[in-house]
Amino acid sequence: MINSDTAHAKPAITPIALAAPAVCPACGGRGNDLFTVHHGMTLLACRACSTVHLHPRPTPTEVTALYSDAYGNASESYFAKVEKKLRRSRRRMAALARLKSTSHISPPRFLDIGCNGGFMVEAARERGFEAYGLDIDPVSIDYARKHYPANRFVLATLEDYAPDAPRFDMIYCSEVIEHLADPSGFIDCVFELLAPDGLFFLTTPDISHWRRPRDVTRWDGFCPPSHCVYFNPRSLTALLRRAGFVGVERRWSFKPGIKLTCRKPASI
Ligand SMILES: [Zn+2]
Repeated sequence: MINSDTAHAKPAITPIALAAPAVCPACGGRGNDLFTVHHGMTLLACRACSTVHLHPRPTPTEVTALYSDAYGNASESYFAKVEKKLRRSRRRMAALARLKSTSHISPPRFLDIGCNGGFMVEAARERGFEAYGLDIDPVSIDYARKHYPANRFVLATLEDYAPDAPRFDMIYCSEVIEHLADPSGFIDCVFELLAPDGLFFLTTPDISHWRRPRDVTRWDGFCPPSHCVYFNPRSLTALLRRAGFVGVERRWSFKPGIKLTCRKPASI
């Protein structure tokens, strides 16, 4: 007989001794101080770049389980306020389309990594892109395929999708990187998938933001183990530059979040 408690239990992430090697996922620094212990989970702060990270970080398999769980077993009811989400996506897409360079690809291609119900993908299609959406949550992909069938939706991680993927003029990734065990490898993968001069738009919570509650546990962006890496604008910018991105520009954000745009160089 299956115990219902254990059958639905989240994957266990066991805190280990601080003496174990800890490497900053943003800069690779090995000097890390204790940031906090929250519900038995240890979070460290990198001395070099101040990125806060769960230690140990979850495995990719655990990330997939946690990411899906973050949607609370999403159902159709999760996709309420669809018109509002589409309107917001269209506004954001209009702003991004103004930044797009002349495409080398016809029609230009757009990819949303962590596409949720496909709202940004549909907004990109309406702007003339051949639009693709990627997500690891099957409920999201089912919803997107059903409601926005003119686009291509793929149920996969970026790393699994990359070998078969075409090159894109624009890649959009909102509120995903904080879930990942290997954000550096992920950013390298995005860089590879962009066409020369391609635009990358990235958002993630900002642990250093002036409006972040002083008590971090009262911040809605703080939710380990689902969020396992907490960047600040400086550490995220440095990570993008190390991957080869240029023209990193931070967009203003009233909420405690980081919004950045950057480009792959036109010739490398
Ligand atoms: Zn660091």
